[in-house]
Amino acid sequence: MITEVEKQEFYQALLDKNVHYESVFFVGVQTTGVFCRPTCPARKPKFENCEFYRAAQEALLASFRPCMRCRPLSHPNQVSDLVRTLVDAVEADPSKRWKDCDFEELSVDASTARRQFKKRFGMTFVEYARARRVGLAMKQIRDGEAVIDVQLNTGYESSSGFRDAFSKIMGAAPTKANHHYKILKASWLDTKLGPMVAIADDEGLYLLEFVDRRGLEREVERLRIKKKAAIILGETEPIQSIAFELESYFNGDLKDFKIPIHLLGSPFQRLVWDELMRIPYGATRSYMAQAAAIGKDKAYRAVANANGANQLAIIIPCHRIINSNGDLGGYGGGIARKQWLIDHERRNARYSSKSAHYAKTPPLF
Ligand SMILES: [Zn+2]
Repeated sequence: MITEVEKQEFYQALLDKNVHYESVFFVGVQTTGVFCRPTCPARKPKFENCEFYRAAQEALLASFRPCMRCRPLSHPNQVSDLVRTLVDAVEADPSKRWKDCDFEELSVDASTARRQFKKRFGMTFVEYARARRVGLAMKQIRDGEAVIDVQLNTGYESSSGFRDAFSKIMGAAPTKANHHYKILKASWLDTKLGPMVAIADDEGLYLLEFVDRRGLEREVERLRIKKKAAIILGETEPIQSIAFELESYFNGDLKDFKIPIHLLGSPFQRLVWDELMRIPYGATRSYMAQAAAIGKDKAYRAVANANGANQLAIIIPCHRIINSNGDLGGYGGGIARKQWLIDHERRNARYSSKSAHYAKTPPLF
């Protein structure tokens, strides 16, 4: 975790091209998508466009690519020819899956590559290539490509291959110093509306979101920081429960979620979320009516923001809030999903759970 004070310190080091900060931090530049060493000769970015990382792997996983000028992974003074050859080969085709014969083609011994990479970057070459590939995939998802297209473009042949890569991201946080951290578990849940991620401890659920939701990585990062937690792939009882409840919800049977949840927002956000959970299944309400319901008639913009900050999609039903004129308004998971959820609930609210099979909602994807 990097504090605000450290960020200021790192930014000053970046402006000064301070060599003492080499390998202390790397900086990702949002406007260009590259990450650099502190001494990069390129023009310096504005502070607000910088993201700081302690390890190159973290920058790669956040989908930054290595800068061509300062070459954060292959500075000539710091690495062997072999490492440089391999880094260049990855950059020539970042989506490539590496096989033994690829090493032979480059006249590189695979075990030497593994050892040298581990020594220099704290990860093996295969882990490096993979981090770069996963970062690329996450970037495509953030930029709005469907999960299935990303799977095809980045050579993940199956959903499980992509899930695998995803787990790598979730497991990326812990470093040596983190072993006393709280551990949260993350799981991938397939639903009718596409894959979701659930994050929980043994007591309750912290996060439930569609995997391709914009800003998901930031949400996960905020959760990690707030709980001082490492997030690794795995299951807890609440995750098993939500998998079961979600299936039942999508079948039109379940109308109220029972699983224990953790609400981490500000007092205002929690007030808004509590009120959201009072909107009955199958009903919708306007942002203004929602603001009035918590006694803050004029604060409907703040209410809309609090809705958007909800980290428990579907369970805290922010999809039930629409514009006063009947338009759908926004939704973090995308408008098509919001429409589907509203239609699904309207249809199923009319039937008892026994006759729910009359009310099948057509698949969206
Ligand atoms: Zn650079």
